[in-house]
Amino acid sequence: MTNLVPIFQQCILCGHCTTADIALCAQCALELPYPECACKRCGVELGPIPPVHGYCGRCLSEPPSFDHCIAAFRYEFPVRELIAGFKFHAGFAEGRTLARLLAERATQAFETIGKPQRLLPIPLHASRLRERGFNQSIELARVIGQHCGITVDTSYCRRSRATPTQKGLSAEERATNLRNAFTLHGECVGGTLRHVAIVDDVVTTMTTVDTLARVLRHAGVTRIDVLCLARVS
Ligand SMILES: [Zn+2]
Ligand SMILES: [Zn+2]
Repeated sequence: MTNLVPIFQQCILCGHCTTADIALCAQCALELPYPECACKRCGVELGPIPPVHGYCGRCLSEPPSFDHCIAAFRYEFPVRELIAGFKFHAGFAEGRTLARLLAERATQAFETIGKPQRLLPIPLHASRLRERGFNQSIELARVIGQHCGITVDTSYCRRSRATPTQKGLSAEERATNLRNAFTLHGECVGGTLRHVAIVDDVVTTMTTVDTLARVLRHAGVTRIDVLCLARVS
């Protein structure tokens, strides 16, 4: 028998009941901080008068190892608070809802750049995983993978050693910290993967995603995109 009873859920922002298939009402979804004009490569916001070529100064002089960073939101209220709830208080309703909106944004982008063969969540080292209980990037990637029909690969990229927290470090210290932090394992080594998308929750200085992208590029991956909930400008 068909279940005709609508499934109601509470909006994660205003608490009102919604029949949408995500836990966000239409009004709150409309008011989220979406990026307006972002760099075609790294996804950073270009400001009120964007250059006609569409790239930020840093990407023109020193482009990252990945091709394109797709961010669903600006790192602002209330997205910043929803991400913190997801990561630090196991707010899976927040995580799933934001991931679903990122999946919709990614679907649009894939029409132009093509669909990646695999989603590669940024791996957490075992000690960080024990502390948090879950890897936020894997949780996001699962929602995106299901929505977009892309396999999530959680075993190809691994942390090769524990890296101390990146918080409060300079760009140079971050790079040193991450050097040799990622290794690739298994069947994909050898050039069968041409196009992948790295999944991360928040991209700040790009050091983490850029380091992994460099490792993937070295292994023969020709197109590397990045999917993140928010890009810090
Ligand atoms: Zn709402
Ligand atoms: Zn850029």
